[in-house]
Amino acid sequence: MRKSAPAALALLLSLVMAACLPPRSAATGEPALVLNAGTGDDASDAYEFVPVPVGAASLLGCNGVEAVSAPPVCQVALPSAEEDSAFRAEGRRLESHGLERCRVLGGAVSRSVPTVRMYSKALIRNVDGRRWYGVGHAYALGDVWLVRVARRLDDLNGRTLDEMKRTLRHEVSHTLGATENARGEWTADDYANGCA
Ligand SMILES: [Zn+2]
Repeated sequence: MRKSAPAALALLLSLVMAACLPPRSAATGEPALVLNAGTGDDASDAYEFVPVPVGAASLLGCNGVEAVSAPPVCQVALPSAEEDSAFRAEGRRLESHGLERCRVLGGAVSRSVPTVRMYSKALIRNVDGRRWYGVGHAYALGDVWLVRVARRLDDLNGRTLDEMKRTLRHEVSHTLGATENARGEWTADDYANGCA
């Protein structure tokens, strides 16, 4: 049991991670330049990022990685007061949404908010000449879902609260069983867009 549980978690993690990396730029492999006036100067250094808990570090491959070179998944921070407030408000908004599915999502968002943590920036991967920005992440540790939201796209580009709330809807929908690919049910992106 000791051996099989981490393997199952790792598989789930890779599935979810792979699924949460939306394409930003198809042709050049360069990052899309996203200018968000007012958020680009918001130094993430102002927030305290700390290593993820031991169990998560093992799951995420963070053990033995120097902090300075660790990928964003290895360090998390509490949401700022502004982010926390926006996430809570998003949960309340969704709980009174016109669509039943969005109300269910809203309940899940409200329950998730206390444990949501921030990444300093997106996880960047280059696949087949495309650059993918993983702006959010949801993974299970034991039977607990952990929801993560990237505060910035990269060093140059901040993300707006609306973009972070979209990520929150997408990631929390995974905790309800939503996948990236439609099988007659709403996908995570359907939740992210349909409940906007
Ligand atoms: Zn996803």
